[in-house]
Amino acid sequence: MHELAITESIVAAVTEKLPGAPIRRVCVEVGELSGVVPDALRFCFELACAGTTLEGASLDIVRMPGRGQCQSCSAEFDTTDFLVLCACGSAEVTVLGGRELRIREVEVV
Ligand SMILES: [Zn+2]
Repeated sequence: MHELAITESIVAAVTEKLPGAPIRRVCVEVGELSGVVPDALRFCFELACAGTTLEGASLDIVRMPGRGQCQSCSAEFDTTDFLVLCACGSAEVTVLGGRELRIREVEVV
């Protein structure tokens, strides 16, 4: 499962930065275009945390909106779609936001 690998790397990153510190909460930014399903991420987070300093920690997920800019007509727009298409029909769209997957905050007990 995609999300399990992601949560495992989140746990690894946190334990590497804060070795031995008991963690109360982790806040991650998840872009709407990242392909990550928040519910699945929550579920896997619990599994990945078991037996680590993150055991019992809560996971806050901040959704980052998908944002694209068309290279043909330079329109900027919100998108939740993977295949980003501009209203003008162009597929030459630069993704400006929404692919985030990063740890924003870690709260130590
Ligand atoms: Zn366009």
